[in-house]
Amino acid sequence: MRILVCNDDGIYSNGILQLASSMSRIGETTVVAPDEERSATGHAITLHKPLRVKPVNLPKLNIRAYAVNGTPADCVKIGYDIVMERKVDLVISGINKGPNLGTDVLYSGTVSAAFEGAILGLPSIAVSLVSYDSDDYAYAGKIAVQVAERLMENSLPLGTILNINVPAVPEKDIKGIKTVRLGVRRYAENYIKRIDPRGRPYYWLTGEAIDEDETAGCEIDTDISAIIHNYVTITPIHFDLTSYAFIDNVAEWFHDFK
Ligand code: MN
Repeated sequence: MRILVCNDDGIYSNGILQLASSMSRIGETTVVAPDEERSATGHAITLHKPLRVKPVNLPKLNIRAYAVNGTPADCVKIGYDIVMERKVDLVISGINKGPNLGTDVLYSGTVSAAFEGAILGLPSIAVSLVSYDSDDYAYAGKIAVQVAERLMENSLPLGTILNINVPAVPEKDIKGIKTVRLGVRRYAENYIKRIDPRGRPYYWLTGEAIDEDETAGCEIDTDISAIIHNYVTITPIHFDLTSYAFIDNVAEWFHDFK
């Protein structure tokens, strides 16, 4: 099995080192990742400047690795087309430093790299560790291998990827794996206004997610509530954003248009 590993935290992050090391146990692994952090770049691709692909030595790992001066989606496209010469069986992205839950998936470079794999018609997975402080990716790496093995035994519909989030708690405190829908993330955020040295205002987005457990007494059915309860979460997600349930309603608004 030929595995393409990517991320959005950059090729020198500890999360991708763990993922590459874990995946190399089950397949011939190649890393193609951004040369610096590209978190929250969504599905952007580079069209107006040249891309460079530079071989990199990963510490203590004998794995082919390349740094690209582009986005996560660029890395998967060029990794597939040029580096791996279109012979890829699995794309896996991460392990992201921080969660990719609920609405976050729209901003996430980690998830977008996996979506790029799906656009190319490949089985694809995004993996995130729900912590900005922990540097212990070992358990998340183990989960990534298990999910990849299950995925390869089964199959996903075209355009669907698996989005995995792993709680940053000791393995003994993990309750299990839950397959759930995306929740809605709310952020208590605002722009801080400051003045630059030339006297002009600039703005910096700050704030953090307020994840409320809305499950009191109900079934845990979203990634956000399952994470609060220390479950590993799996959500199959699709890049087809069509709201099928609402197509007919909108058509009705325009029924009298010529
Ligand atoms: Mn990231």
